[in-house]
Amino acid sequence: MVLPILKYGAQELKTPSKKVDVFNGELEKIAKNMIETMYSAPGIGLAAPQIGLNICLTTIDLSVGEDPTQLLILCNPEIVDTVGEQKSEEGCLSIPDFTDTVVRPRKLTVRGQNIHGEDLRFDAEELLARCFSHEIDHLNGILFIDRLSALKKTLIRNKIKKLAKAGNW
Ligand SMILES: [Zn+2]
Repeated sequence: MVLPILKYGAQELKTPSKKVDVFNGELEKIAKNMIETMYSAPGIGLAAPQIGLNICLTTIDLSVGEDPTQLLILCNPEIVDTVGEQKSEEGCLSIPDFTDTVVRPRKLTVRGQNIHGEDLRFDAEELLARCFSHEIDHLNGILFIDRLSALKKTLIRNKIKKLAKAGNW
């Protein structure tokens, strides 16, 4: 089921998420809906708060459904190591039509669990590292615009306010 994606301004996007500790069919159903929602958007990553659930669950697929081996479902992800920096244009399904340059780790190691609660560890670089970093931020209530300068953030917020006023947000 494709679910609506919450936009900037929604309380759930600012709220730190709770750890997943029950790995059951309900969790699998949520992940399945997130994957369908991510593909439909289309996007390369989605975090549970974006569909209004403050639980530490994220789905990532750089191929957006083209290559089944690239689909990752990760519970309770945590960055345990980073190397270097990368600067690149970034966007978010919850902040449609806005992008900006965000600094992220060039490489990172993520630890977490799969949908069955089994421990996982990923080494990622470039776009995948950026994606992990972005989604894990969501689980901590942080959006990419929170990582921009105060001036840039204010500019984007003002534009969104205008859009909201006109009923276009
Ligand atoms: Zn996002």
